This record gives sequence, structure tokens and C-alpha cells, in this order.
Amino acid sequence: MAVRSIVTVPDPKLSERANAVIDLTEDICQLAADMTDTMYKAPGIGLAANQVGELVRVIVFDIHYAYAEPKDKKKVPTVLINPVILFTEGEEFKEEGCLSVPNFNVDVKRAARVQVEGIDIKGKPLKIEGEGLVARVIQHEIDHLEGKTLLDHSSALKRNLYHRRVKKSRRGNR
Ligand code: ZN
Repeated sequence: MAVRSIVTVPDPKLSERANAVIDLTEDICQLAADMTDTMYKAPGIGLAANQVGELVRVIVFDIHYAYAEPKDKKKVPTVLINPVILFTEGEEFKEEGCLSVPNFNVDVKRAARVQVEGIDIKGKPLKIEGEGLVARVIQHEIDHLEGKTLLDHSSALKRNLYHRRVKKSRRGNR
């Protein structure tokens, strides 16, 4: 088990586009395992590779574990490599947060339902259809792979205020 550190804005890795995985090397498998550990430790319900500073198209998610009662906690992570959204339907506005944008929430418009396709950790095609929270998490994580964060979904005013707050708290920590 290896928990990696999660990068936060304004780390440049969060605004760069991640590259497709061409070979399922041992490094990629290790990265996916570490991302899973990191997500559970945070705790979070999803994580993209950019968030641990790796620019490859790997996402992990588990929408149940973090919210489950202690007695019902069971880790069932989904690892999706090179995810591509095939189909979307409907739209929903909901508030989101992000481990890489601490202390920030914003209402984000997402498709209500998505169908996404990629490969799993063994290299087998994996197609997932989901709605509600799982659809939202998938879209949020794919945003990260495109170099987008929640700040890109907020108004310029809110974004600038957040950047100022981050700068100020960094100065305060010196
Ligand atoms: Zn995020």
C-alpha cells in the first residue's frame, strides 16, 4: 500500500492534459493501485492521475465506500484507463468539491447520465453506464485528465478570490 501526496492548485500538473496510456506497464499498474489507496485514505470518491502529479489517463473511483456506515464499508474501486465518454443524457446542477481544490465548492452542470469506455487494469475493454453521482464523478475525473479543475467551472470572480486566498495562506505558512 502506498499513499501518494495529492497536489493542489496552483500545481501546474492540474492544468495540463494527461497522455493516453499506450502500454500497461508495471508502473501504470502500481500507479493505479497507489491512486486507489490515496483515494481511500483522503478520503475521496474519485481521483485522477494528475492529482498525484502523473500526466497519464488513469482514473479511479468508488462512490460508496466514503459514505458507507462503518459496518458496511467494502472497498470496490473501479480503475478506468483512457476513459472516453461515448454518450451523455440530461443535465444536473450539483455542488462539487475536489481534493486538489481544498475548501472550495461550486455548483457544476454535468450530464445526468453517461456511458464511458476505457480499459481496465488487465487491459480488457470496460464500458460503464451510470447516472447521478457516479456519472458526476466520472465527468469530474475526466475533466482533470483534460487539465480542468472546479475552478474552471466557477466565475472569474470566485476563481480569483480563491487564488488570492491560496497565496495568502502560503505566505502565512512561511
Ligand atoms: Zn477533483
